[in-house]
Amino acid sequence: MRRLLALLALTTLPVHAQGSTDPLAREIEQRLEQVMPKVIAWRRDIHQHPELSFEEKRTSALVEKHLRALGLEVQAPVGKTGVVGILRGGRPGPVVALRADMDALPVTELVDLPFKSTVRTMYNGMEVGVMHACGHDNHVAILMGVAEILTAMKPRIPGTIKFLFQPAEEGLGGAKAMVADGALMNPKASAIFGLHVMPGPLGSLNARPGGFLAAADGLEIIVKGRQTHGSSPWLGVDPIVVSSQIVLGLQTIASRQINVAAAPAVITVGMIQGGNRGNIIPDSVVMIGTIRTFDPAMRTLIHERVKRTAEDIARAGGATAVVNLQTSGLITVNDNTLFDKMTPTLRRTAGEGGFNVVGPVMGSEDFPEFTREIPGLFYALGSSPKGSDPAKQPANHSPLFFVDEGALPVGVRSLANLAVDYLRTAGAVQ
Ligand SMILES: [Zn+2]
Ligand SMILES: [Zn+2]
Repeated sequence: MRRLLALLALTTLPVHAQGSTDPLAREIEQRLEQVMPKVIAWRRDIHQHPELSFEEKRTSALVEKHLRALGLEVQAPVGKTGVVGILRGGRPGPVVALRADMDALPVTELVDLPFKSTVRTMYNGMEVGVMHACGHDNHVAILMGVAEILTAMKPRIPGTIKFLFQPAEEGLGGAKAMVADGALMNPKASAIFGLHVMPGPLGSLNARPGGFLAAADGLEIIVKGRQTHGSSPWLGVDPIVVSSQIVLGLQTIASRQINVAAAPAVITVGMIQGGNRGNIIPDSVVMIGTIRTFDPAMRTLIHERVKRTAEDIARAGGATAVVNLQTSGLITVNDNTLFDKMTPTLRRTAGEGGFNVVGPVMGSEDFPEFTREIPGLFYALGSSPKGSDPAKQPANHSPLFFVDEGALPVGVRSLANLAVDYLRTAGAVQ
């Protein structure tokens, strides 16, 4: 509750933004103050009613209703449960897209908030809670606010703005589905912007040119041994011991077989399943994990080494290993020209934490499905409570993940200004 009270002062605006001499930036700033209470209310409502990937029916209905009430052209469904709003400005100009993802995660919320999620569901055969543990509730509310501000400025907007509300970012291919459904076409956008809440100084904007977020590839290894009694392992082949060796062997790929000075890489085994009793050696073990990389050649090399390591260690123990890689992940790359062009906007619209060029982040996104088609810029919005150490804050996907709502006005301000500034200066970027 104490946290909540601190958040109510969120519409306090920095002097530099209020004092801008640019009429469009000034208008965004004035309208921001009026729209923020709604953004907070939407965010809390969506937070309390989280929906898993491709099940965002309530959320997309809320979005659609809002966009229609604003009088925008609306396309829905786009990419199964996605929604697109189109704002055609009163002045000629290019087309820009803004993207917010909408899905939640099978995580049971442990944050004590008045609008805490109590939603439960069945996931992978187990009953779990559903929580906006990645903060996408904030992204939806921010973009709804941006749509409201820019629609009110319609006669003065030099071009077209597409608002993309995307489903299923968390691994199920929502961005790909939207692109396949033509979300970037008719009219064709020439650039796209997106943001993500993350632990960081409150209201800071953080990004880097080039590779920003890692490619995430799924990893599954099935180790097949031979079942036997736990008291006589020599009569079978123990897949648990073999799997243990494989887990350790995989760790030597990142630490001993790649040039860590060239680009970072992570291999994680996040789940091991095998056996159901202490004195029975099971027949097989299944492991699943994730591979994070920044360099395409290194990514291919790691895939080969993972396969070789698992198969050869299994063979040494008399077992077999089948390695399945799900290699649909893409590196989130910020277009260098667009990054340089928009840096002044990010610098001007950042909150107290400022704009920071940061190192690569091992987290992953499906935003690059859009930037395969057109240049894009993705940035992180620092959302840790004031006075806290962001490094000690629970990360995205934690049941304790917490977003300080003081970050939201910075999210709205930055996205709205990026859209307007891009439309005004697009010529040099395309
Ligand atoms: Zn996530
Ligand atoms: Zn996310």
